[in-house]
Amino acid sequence: MAYGLRTDFQGKLFPGSMALLALADELREVRTICHCGRKATMVVRLDGDGKVVREGAQVDVGGNEKYVSYCRRHWEERIRKG
Ligand SMILES: [Zn+2]
Repeated sequence: MAYGLRTDFQGKLFPGSMALLALADELREVRTICHCGRKATMVVRLDGDGKVVREGAQVDVGGNEKYVSYCRRHWEERIRKG
């Protein structure tokens, strides 16, 4: 049994998640909800001022203040706005 995030703050698969998705016999999804009520499948990374980070290392471990989960629609909106 293993678990982890599917995609990074740019919506790209992690190498580990790519391997797990390929190998898994069974997948169970832990649901997170966007502020609008839809299922959150995407995440944005924030800098210290709360602005969206669009580039950088794929892995940057942080707490709740660094990442926000969104549905795809609001993720795209947030990525555009910053
Ligand atoms: Zn939403």
